[in-house]
Amino acid sequence: MKRRCVAMILAAGQGKRMGCATQKQYMQLNGYPVLYYSLKQFEESIVDSIVLVVGKGEIQYCQEEIVNRYGFQKVEMIVEGGKERYESVYYGLQAMKEAEYVLIHDGARPLITKEIVERCIEQVQYEHACVVGMPVKDTIKVVDEKQYAKETPNRSTLWLVQTPQAFCFELVKLAYMKMMEQGDTTATDDAMVVEQYANHSIKLIEGSYENIKITTPEDLIIAQTLLKNRS
Ligand code: C5P
Repeated sequence: MKRRCVAMILAAGQGKRMGCATQKQYMQLNGYPVLYYSLKQFEESIVDSIVLVVGKGEIQYCQEEIVNRYGFQKVEMIVEGGKERYESVYYGLQAMKEAEYVLIHDGARPLITKEIVERCIEQVQYEHACVVGMPVKDTIKVVDEKQYAKETPNRSTLWLVQTPQAFCFELVKLAYMKMMEQGDTTATDDAMVVEQYANHSIKLIEGSYENIKITTPEDLIIAQTLLKNRS
């Protein structure tokens, strides 16, 4: 039996660190909105459908200006997100109908590729919980509240975590429900929620150093260059 695999693409962030009136997911990047690029890679991958999570009052705009305009066929639902990323994921999971696996992806990572998406789908079937990441290149310090170095973790054990983050649907949905019940507001990624509330191990799989998240203005310049190199 074919397993149903759904991608949830998050685009409900305010992008305050961008310091610009236009939200980062709708900013132009080499002639297309930032959000277009990840939608395109998922659309061309083997995922069965896409749930898009957008900001309050943006459903119609997204439907017309992104989904219809560029002819994305796999977007089956557009839902409103929340104030924080974890709330947006929770609302997306609540809205989702049957799925066997879910791949949660930041719409602000336009350099994702179809190959990474498919690597993730292959692995989640064995691991049930896996996230894309890369080994860190720099030394990382843990600092105290006055910004003095407190610890230097062994670099060979450190990875930066990216998205997609892929899970069995029931596993991640249950973990998010428990977290919301407890009123925990600390989650910054989905793996954290599954580790803590489903007590499940998370496998890290190799993504790409190019799979950056657009957060501050210089990220847009880097993304422009990387995308130009691809074409
Ligand atoms: O804010 P940050 O850069 O960590 O956001 C990562 C991703 O989560 C972005 O794609 C953003 O649109 C999404 N997000 C969301 N809802 C929020 C905050 C962030 O969908 N409330």
